[in-house]
Amino acid sequence: MAGIKPGLRLRVALALALACLLVVGALGFTLYTASEDLEDTLLDQLVSEEMDFLVKRHQQIPAYLPQPSSNFQSYIVRDAQEQARLPDYLRNLGPGRHERFVGKDEFQILVREENGIRYYVAYEVGLYEQREQEFKLLVWLSVLTATLVSLALGYWLSGVLVRQVTELAGRVSELKPGQRHEALARPGQGPEVALLARAFEDYQSRIEQMIRREQEFTSNASHELRTPLTAIRTSCEMLLADPALGEKSRARVAWIDEAADRMAEQIQALLFLARGQALGEIEPVALADCVAEAIEPHRGEIARKGLALEIDVARDAVLELNYPALRLVLGNLVRNAVHYTERGFVRIGYAARDLTVADSGSGISPEHLPRVFERFYRAADPDGGSGLGLAIVKRICDHYGWKIEVESAPMKGSVFRITFP
Ligand code: ADP
Repeated sequence: MAGIKPGLRLRVALALALACLLVVGALGFTLYTASEDLEDTLLDQLVSEEMDFLVKRHQQIPAYLPQPSSNFQSYIVRDAQEQARLPDYLRNLGPGRHERFVGKDEFQILVREENGIRYYVAYEVGLYEQREQEFKLLVWLSVLTATLVSLALGYWLSGVLVRQVTELAGRVSELKPGQRHEALARPGQGPEVALLARAFEDYQSRIEQMIRREQEFTSNASHELRTPLTAIRTSCEMLLADPALGEKSRARVAWIDEAADRMAEQIQALLFLARGQALGEIEPVALADCVAEAIEPHRGEIARKGLALEIDVARDAVLELNYPALRLVLGNLVRNAVHYTERGFVRIGYAARDLTVADSGSGISPEHLPRVFERFYRAADPDGGSGLGLAIVKRICDHYGWKIEVESAPMKGSVFRITFP
């Protein structure tokens, strides 16, 4: 089915994931910075309150000895002796706020001096730090999760969205001109898809109208052409049956009859090309009969040129195919073989589902060979043909799934091979 490539789905999903990454990322960043600020303020406040408490307590009870708690360490320094007893990381600090690391532990320190006495409060922020790290990890994890979830969700959602379009594309690709089909617009379709479906239906009906007009024209034209042709052929037959007809006139009438036959054949082929339709039913066809019929109109020319006609087709070789189609193909190939051969042979053979029409004629040069099946393409030939014969042959072969190949070399002759499936 001609579906929509996963590219579109993936692009929608990626766009959604990117949008989500930006929004959640920005939100996470804001939250993280705000919490850091909040934590700093809280820490400051905590340390200041502890300091206030220490100073107040000491002023009330001069002999007060601060007790170390799990996070706080407080010291009161009144003289050099007490100064010397301070832990190393506090010893040289002046009044104010400080941050110090002892090993891996971080301390927020506040030093205050009042009435010649120094107060030290150190707060171990390890716990805060750990919580901060955890929060950071949480922000990262939620950004990642939100991105992945939105990617998956976006992929699924866009799948749902394009499903109607792919389904419509599938039905459009199965439409065959001239055949009845179900309406493309269906209830439940999204308005855009319904619009697309209606546009396709409109286009399809215009194509059908065009085909109908063209078919009418071709069948009218062929009828108009066939009637006078039949009149010519009947008159020729009547003239040829007249014993009083002189030898010279008889040859001329036979020539007119042959040309009219050829014209009737060409009209049928042109109709096939114009309509691209089957020429009729598939039936068992004796190849030898069809070959004989295709050769018949050319016997005169074969005899005139003194060509050896070699037919190697078993009488019981029967294929299931459309007789007029094979007749047209063989007619064109045999005509070319006879026309482009001045001496030597024209050979028609059938074996192992391969039908060959070979000749010892002028051959086709390598630069023309790949194009001989194109419409109106003619290799160098002064005697004007239409350049349509092989195009018709190819079209018919393609239509019925017959494989056609040609091997040819200048002055060595050509072999046209049809392989039936
Ligand atoms: P036409 O014969 O009307 O020119 P065709 O489509 O039948 O058109 O052939 C296309 C060209 O292929 C011819 O012009 C001719 O040059 C070349 N050709 C076809 N069959 C043969 C052949 N058996 N031997 C040599 N040339 C050929």
